[in-house]
Amino acid sequence: MKPTIAVIGLGRMGSALARAFLAAGYTTHVWNRSPDKATAFADQGASIAPSVSVAAAAADIIVVCVSTYADSDRLLRSPEAAATLRGKLIVQVSSGSPNQAREQARWAAGNGTAYLDGAIMATPDFIGEPGGTVLYSGPRALFEANREVFAALGGNPQFVGEDVGHASALDLSLLGQMWGALFGQFQAAAICQAEGIALDLFEEHRQAFHPVVEGAVVDLVTRIRDRRFAADAETLASLDVHYGAFGLLLQLCSERGLHDLVPKAQDSLFRKAIEAGHRQDDFAAIAQFMR
Ligand code: NAP
Repeated sequence: MKPTIAVIGLGRMGSALARAFLAAGYTTHVWNRSPDKATAFADQGASIAPSVSVAAAAADIIVVCVSTYADSDRLLRSPEAAATLRGKLIVQVSSGSPNQAREQARWAAGNGTAYLDGAIMATPDFIGEPGGTVLYSGPRALFEANREVFAALGGNPQFVGEDVGHASALDLSLLGQMWGALFGQFQAAAICQAEGIALDLFEEHRQAFHPVVEGAVVDLVTRIRDRRFAADAETLASLDVHYGAFGLLLQLCSERGLHDLVPKAQDSLFRKAIEAGHRQDDFAAIAQFMR
């Protein structure tokens, strides 16, 4: 028999989760702090709960999707809500840090509540779609027992470890990589605009250049994994070659009065590695200075 679901929090993401559970045929109870977002679900077959504890009491699995773990704590740890959560499963998919996830799991264990931490690696439009990825960490048996439930949220539910902090840690690792690329995009656009290059032309060439960048990222991952920092026959470009071109980026920022806070931070990492004697090593050598 399908478990009954409660979705706590109906913002952009929580609403997508609730819609996906309903579409997959799960009996779904919803609660949101601002009642208007919950009432919108009445037409879609959800039960509108007047409180978190009513939603939790009606459900087997409580999926929490609010802004922060602190918001979630205020909702779940009231004596009334905590009592209704005993013997249930919380799936926390609000964004949090690895240690926040570990602390939540400790609280849940003390409350007699099973706990899985989730990290949604998607925007709401991917939820319920084949490409929707959600990472889960915590007891593997809990994940396996509910794999079908998680499949309702997207075609790619992934268990990433028994350390309950690992879904959040992997989330932040992937987001850190994403922000590197997105802030790089601001830099690229500023250069094009300062030099009078149409962004459509940039985009055309970004796509052509993409396999080169992707190849360099893959190369870095394997080199860092294997701690292969010295230049060798497979080295694509030495740190020295990178730094030569990077100096030109700093020069252009200065000439055109472009914001250079991000390249200046990158420059300090280049310098650390060079001062430590790695100028002729593989670019991957910088990894040693990230901790
Ligand atoms: P959102 O649209 O801003 O919605 C925030 C939700 O949190 C609303 O339901 C809001 O209730 C609720 N909330 C905030 N503070 C609360 C409090 N003190 N007490 C009770 N409820 C509170 O955000 P979202 O995009 O749905 O994101 C929700 C979580 O999913 C976040 O942790 C976010 O990082 C994560 N996430 C989002 C995405 C995405 O693409 N959107 C992707 C991955 C992960 P009200 O409606 O009453 O304000």
